[in-house]
Amino acid sequence: MRKRRVYLDNAATTYVCGESLQAMMPYFTTDYGNAASAHGFGRDAEKALARAREQIAKTINADPGEIYFTSGATEANNWILRGLAQNHTSKRIIVSAIEHPCIMETCAQLEKEGFKVEYVKVDRDGIIQVSDLLAKLAKPAAVVSIMTANNEVGTIQFLNTVANLCREKGTLFHTDATQAIGSVFIDVKEMKIDALSMSGHKIYGPKGIGALYIKNGVKVAKLMYGGHQERGLRAGTVNVAGAVGFGVAAEIAMRDATINNPRVKGLRDYMITQIEQKIEHAHLNGHRSQRLPNNVNFSFAGVEGEAVLMMLDMAGIAVSTGSACTSGTLARSHVIAAMGVSEVLNQGSIRFSLGRNTTKDDIDYTVNELVKAVKKLRSISAIRGDK
Ligand code: PMP
Repeated sequence: MRKRRVYLDNAATTYVCGESLQAMMPYFTTDYGNAASAHGFGRDAEKALARAREQIAKTINADPGEIYFTSGATEANNWILRGLAQNHTSKRIIVSAIEHPCIMETCAQLEKEGFKVEYVKVDRDGIIQVSDLLAKLAKPAAVVSIMTANNEVGTIQFLNTVANLCREKGTLFHTDATQAIGSVFIDVKEMKIDALSMSGHKIYGPKGIGALYIKNGVKVAKLMYGGHQERGLRAGTVNVAGAVGFGVAAEIAMRDATINNPRVKGLRDYMITQIEQKIEHAHLNGHRSQRLPNNVNFSFAGVEGEAVLMMLDMAGIAVSTGSACTSGTLARSHVIAAMGVSEVLNQGSIRFSLGRNTTKDDIDYTVNELVKAVKKLRSISAIRGDK
């Protein structure tokens, strides 16, 4: 009998949904033109790209002309930070302390190049401290970048408030919405967002395709040099099939949001309750309600996250940890650390990210295995500390 498998790592990536896959197929096989070519094959590819651009624009109420295809959110985030920083007289960049590594590492590199990066503090739930942002906004900055929803703990920011403050102070505002598309309502026009990053493979589209929304009129320096693709700003032959798959996936994510999100949210809350009832000293990380519908993140006192991950993996369950174990030392999650959670608890954080196909039975099986794993690990654990 095949071992049971439960995939609870949908924040890492998702499968490609049937509609997205179907839509992509012709662009690999029969309609494989280069969208920049002048002939019929090229025109067909360009038409498909235009449609995908429209579908993606619609998810955030942007104009299609404000959407630039990239290889993913990593590229979009690298591009926007560097592209705005290079174009501004201010050498300051403001980001939150809990951004994805592709923002953090870009900032670290920009610091080496002479920029000054300031990190907005978050509270215990992962919500940014508005007073800290306000203090930082007192002086000019090239850009403020604060993610819509956090990939580890699922906390959703009060985007409207943040965007309004930036607008009032005349600072450009970018948000990494990679984890939020389809789960959080975003209207870039109404919310006055200047730039936004997203990715195909988190919303049941393909990997290797993403998009950067840049509001009309906002000047961003190029990241890639070469041809004139993407209005001369992002050189390189566009991944037409990927864009088509991404467009369809984005459309479906929006279309089915009112069906999928409440169902997944129900399972999320069921899982949280089950864990809290069945495991002592389990600490929920992230905001209890202002949180992505599919995110459950816990720390278990006295238990290393990596060990739980491995034991669940043996039971066929795929989860993720915020901390990575490198050569015997535990690198702690910068997100959980920024929220002020103690180091001992930070060693034990586990992220379960539910998906469209997750069932109550999957949750029951996982919680059952988790209870066994934590019990076993606690009985042999050398770590002592917070309860
Ligand atoms: N930002 C966030 C919040 C993410 O979760 C991810 C993916 N883990 C990325 C950016 C990077 O996206 P991509 O894989 O498309 O480069």
